[in-house]
Amino acid sequence: MNPIRSVVIVGGGTAGWMAAAAAARFLDDGRRTITLVESDAIGTVGVGEATIPPILGFNRLLGIDEAEFVRATQATFKLGIEFVDWGAIGERYLHPFGEHGRDFEGVAFHQFWLKHRAEAGIGPLSDYSMSSVAAAAGRFARPVPDPRSPLSGLGYAYHFDAGLYAAFLRRRAEAHGVTRIEGRIAAVERNGETGFVEAVVLDDGRRVTGELFIDCSGFRSLLLGETLGVGYRDWSHWLPCDRAIAAPCERTEPLLPYTRSTARPAGWQWRIPLQHRTGNGIVYAAAHMADDEAEALLLANLDGAAAGAPRRLSFTAGVRERLWDRNVVALGLSGGFIEPLESTSIHLIQTGISKLFWLFPDTRFSTVERDEYNRLMIDQFEYIRDFIVLHYKATRRDDTPFWRYVRDMPIPDSLAHKIALFREKGRVLRYDHDLFAIPNWVAVMLGQNIMPDGYDPMVDSMDDARVLSAMRQIAEANAAAARQMPTHADYIARHCAAS
Ligand code: FAD
Repeated sequence: MNPIRSVVIVGGGTAGWMAAAAAARFLDDGRRTITLVESDAIGTVGVGEATIPPILGFNRLLGIDEAEFVRATQATFKLGIEFVDWGAIGERYLHPFGEHGRDFEGVAFHQFWLKHRAEAGIGPLSDYSMSSVAAAAGRFARPVPDPRSPLSGLGYAYHFDAGLYAAFLRRRAEAHGVTRIEGRIAAVERNGETGFVEAVVLDDGRRVTGELFIDCSGFRSLLLGETLGVGYRDWSHWLPCDRAIAAPCERTEPLLPYTRSTARPAGWQWRIPLQHRTGNGIVYAAAHMADDEAEALLLANLDGAAAGAPRRLSFTAGVRERLWDRNVVALGLSGGFIEPLESTSIHLIQTGISKLFWLFPDTRFSTVERDEYNRLMIDQFEYIRDFIVLHYKATRRDDTPFWRYVRDMPIPDSLAHKIALFREKGRVLRYDHDLFAIPNWVAVMLGQNIMPDGYDPMVDSMDDARVLSAMRQIAEANAAAARQMPTHADYIARHCAAS
């Protein structure tokens, strides 16, 4: 074994500082140097404020105290995403985190709902999700481990200020020995034989050498894309949105515990409530909407006074052919980007970090470890791609060329199969390590009106009266629990204030 002694992280956005904080925590054996290079002049992408539940695990592994984190990053709690006008104009649904009801004897809860949904006293599926009921009431409380409590089925994540999160992680990383170098990388040096990256050279001539390079340089993909020439799988025929404009505005009341995504004529608009402001932005397809038109639409739909000038961004949905090539591993936007509809990018950074540590190389850089990393990560990107494409494909809108295009476009076979299976008897199979579980797929498919023709026949082997009584109890318990919860703003004030 020839352990890697020097790790260089290129870039100090969310990806760079997540990697640095995790490396300081898990790779520091006292003999390894971890260096992060970032350029204040270039700056960061400055968006990326909504997350999904696995972020809790990342913070926990780093030993981060939740209340301290909420204060430091102006965070709020997120119980899911509300989709407005996606299925059809005038419709809305919540994709909640956590469970819908409870599985009975190994059969997914939504199967019982499919059978009994027309019966007296049986409400919409959302009545059986603790997160949905709490979100609708604008309330929040943490889940509890006791399976008898309705709160055990609640799932949550955060909205946070991405800049403050990076700064928070930076303080922790630097305190644990990570060296930060400020400066613009002007050149990258490679070994003439192996093609491995050996050093990055700053524009003032400083050289930073390393054995393993983690490319967190953002959309530019300085090492993996530009230097090593790893190609890009372009998915824009399935995900035609390629522009975004971000425009924060002042906070408005009430402080909602969920993200809102509102479909627009050629894309959609996000609303992310933070403690000190509301993040807003529009994601759209340049082929269907001019930049000025998109900006005007966004600014006309803010629910508070604009706080700062709008910022325009361009991207192409897709992923690099490989995320690990030679001695370079790309994390964050340098490796790929699927539009932020389900807040999955930061999660992909987290996944990349954990898989890299799991397959951490030595200086021989085994190809088998590298191939396994690439297989796992590309699978992740593809699973997420399918889930995002579903939101577009499952529209019934035909009011603009954009919505007609996405409704009629061919989709990946993997997704077509999933939808066909669901249409039969509401079945969702979770493959391998698909990030999204059964309740996630079900929430979006039913939310956009893909109604199965039948239900799982296993349901008929259970006593209807018993099932109906259990279903009613779940809905009543959820409603009662939500009434007991503090409002979202009260919860933050009470539980996250400095002691
Ligand atoms: P960046 O933030 O761009 O950081 C790149 C770093 O590299 C910077 O520090 C820069 O200075 C440095 N750098 C680049 N070139 C050089 C050089 N030559 N020399 C030195 N340093 C250099 N994700 C979510 O999970 N949830 C969301 O809600 C979400 N919303 C998004 C909305 C939009 C419109 C977009 C575009 C993305 C969104 N994302 C979201 C994705 C999220 O923003 C990113 O995954 C996250 O911010 C990580 O970015 P990054 O660190 O890879 O890149």
